[in-house]
Amino acid sequence: MNRPSRIDLRLIDSHAHLDDRAFHDDRAAVIAASFARGIGVLTVGVDLASSRVAVKLASRHRNIWAVVGVHPHDAKDVDRSALLELENLAQRSHVVGIGEIGLDYYRDLSPRSAQRRAFGEQLALARRMHLPVVIHNRESTVDLLGILREVGSSHHGVIHSFLGDISLAETFLDLGFHLGVGGPLTYNKNDILRNAVRRIPLDRILVETDCPYLTPVPYRGKRNEPAYIELVAQAIAELKGVSVEEVARRTAENTDQVFALTRPTP
Ligand SMILES: [Zn+2]
Repeated sequence: MNRPSRIDLRLIDSHAHLDDRAFHDDRAAVIAASFARGIGVLTVGVDLASSRVAVKLASRHRNIWAVVGVHPHDAKDVDRSALLELENLAQRSHVVGIGEIGLDYYRDLSPRSAQRRAFGEQLALARRMHLPVVIHNRESTVDLLGILREVGSSHHGVIHSFLGDISLAETFLDLGFHLGVGGPLTYNKNDILRNAVRRIPLDRILVETDCPYLTPVPYRGKRNEPAYIELVAQAIAELKGVSVEEVARRTAENTDQVFALTRPTP
């Protein structure tokens, strides 16, 4: 399938779960609605099954790319055969990263030791494959930073759904990561995040919906979808005092740069 040689999209949703069952009945319409608005999508796996679907969606749609990996919730399932399948999936066309991987000490659905091991093994896989990573971090910052520092500065990628303050933002930026900003930026309680976003350089921000979750205001409570990424870009534009088109264009360029979306595919 022919891909553009450089990004010709208006806006990129850098983190969606298009495989989710929330899209079971109207997935094609949701995808068509985002393309009609010039929105490209990175669809992110959370386990082997969703990673397989992500690869399939990316192979069928010009403006969709896939990220494959196992979420910390399912870290206990990351064994040798799972890693082998991930390695195979990662070699398929239009697969641009490993994720979402990381740690989640809020829900603790896998033992923390298993989470740390699965995270380390998938980081190693990403490094071997020269792919960026998409990192999930919930109430696990100390251990997450410890692991990232241990493996050194050879990784790049995005801290998905960044929710911290400017000091934590700068820590991740210093490690070379970009920050994924989504719907929570529009939620009333998140002044700390808004203050951070005012100061994070625009060339280090990626916009994301995390759909079907984290729906931005005014659709909060309904299902999220890639088309609502415009509301996230709008919120960033207001905080930074720039146009929404500038936020759209620059975050799309950042996403292209991090994930090499326009590299020649085999
Ligand atoms: Zn996600």
